[in-house]
Amino acid sequence: MLQIKAIGTAVAHAGTIQHGRWKVLRHPTGTTEFIPVIIAQGKEEGPCLWLTAGIHGSEQTGPLVIYKLLTQTLLQNMKGSIIAIPALNPAGLRTMKREPYHSPADPNRMWPDGKPKAPHDPYKDPPSALEVAYQQLFEKIIASVDCMIDFHNAWTGSLSFAYRDRVLYSADGDSEANKSEAESLSARQFEMLKAYGHTIVSERPAEKVIDADLHRSTSAAVLYLGRVPAFTAELGTGHMPDPAILRAALAGTRNVMRWAGMLEGEIEPIEGIRVIQTDEPMCQCPTPRVEHEAVVHHLAQPGDFVHAGDPVAETFDIWGQPNGLGLLRSEYDGFIIARSHGIYYYPGDEIYSMAIRDTHPLVCPYPDDYFKTR
Ligand SMILES: [Zn+2]
Repeated sequence: MLQIKAIGTAVAHAGTIQHGRWKVLRHPTGTTEFIPVIIAQGKEEGPCLWLTAGIHGSEQTGPLVIYKLLTQTLLQNMKGSIIAIPALNPAGLRTMKREPYHSPADPNRMWPDGKPKAPHDPYKDPPSALEVAYQQLFEKIIASVDCMIDFHNAWTGSLSFAYRDRVLYSADGDSEANKSEAESLSARQFEMLKAYGHTIVSERPAEKVIDADLHRSTSAAVLYLGRVPAFTAELGTGHMPDPAILRAALAGTRNVMRWAGMLEGEIEPIEGIRVIQTDEPMCQCPTPRVEHEAVVHHLAQPGDFVHAGDPVAETFDIWGQPNGLGLLRSEYDGFIIARSHGIYYYPGDEIYSMAIRDTHPLVCPYPDDYFKTR
C-alpha cells in the first residue's frame, strides 16, 4: 500500500535501507526521546510489511529479529517495503522494564480503539506524551500497512507462539457485509499465521480482550482499525534471547514475506523450536490457580500435553511440608505454553499459561455499547 514517503526523518528510497527518527517527547531535563525507524524498500513495488518490537522493555528478542532480518541480501531479493521500528519503548528497554518510567502504564494498551474522543475531564489524566506519539505514528501505519508483526516475549522458557486475535466487526449499518469482511480478514490472518509457522494460540475471548484493553495492543489496533492481517509473536524468554527462537522467528518472518508476495523461494522449515499443531483452535488461558498460598513444584513443562485431572504441580509450605493443597491438577485438556515464574504463589495466582480448546467464535461483533462508552 505504501502511500507515504517518510516516517519521521526516515525517507524511503527504492533499493536502499534508510534510517531515521520519530520524535516521541522532550524530557524536562532537556533531551529528546525518539523511536528509531528503518525503511527497507525493494527496487520493485509490492506490499508494505510493518515490523515492530521493543514496546515492553524486558522483551528483547524482537529488536534482534529486525536487525538480523534487514540485510542488503534480503533487500536485493525483496519486492515492496518493510517499515521497522525495533524500539517502540526506548525508556523501558533502557531500564529493562515493561513500562516506561515517564509514563507508568502498559504501552501495549495505548493504541487507538476507534471510539470517539473522550470529553475533557479534569479528574482524568490526559493521554501521556507516549500515547500521543503512538496516536500520530498510528496514522502513518494505517496509511501504509498491508500486514504487520509485533514481536514480544512471553515467559522465561515459554514456547515460541503467535496470537491469533479474534476479528471484531461493527453490527451497525450493513452488519452482514461487515461480518463477511471480518470473516475474510480472519481467514487471511490465519494464512499469515500459518506462513509464520510457529505454534498458534487464539487470544482470550473477545469480551475479555476488551476488558483487558488488549484491543489497544499494537497488532490488535492495526487489525481492528486498519483491517489488515496483523499478529503478535511471542518469542519465549525476554531477558535472554534464545538463539533457536531468534533463528526460527527470522525464518518465519521471511516465510510471511513469501506468503505476502515480497520474497521468492521455498518456504523455510521452522527448526530448532517446539511447534505444536492441533486439529482444533486452542485458546490461551491462565490455569490452574492455587487456592491458597503455596510453594509450588511444577511437574509439567512448556510443550507438554495434559488432560483434565492430570497432576501438574505438587505444593508445600515454607518448610517443604504438606500444606493441605496436595497435588494441583489440570482443569482442562490442552498443552502447556509456559510455567509462571518462580515457586512462591499467593492465593489466586495462576501456575501455568495453558492452551485449551477454543470454544469461542473467532469472528464476532463489537459489544452493543462499545462505541458509546469509554
Ligand atoms: Zn510484550
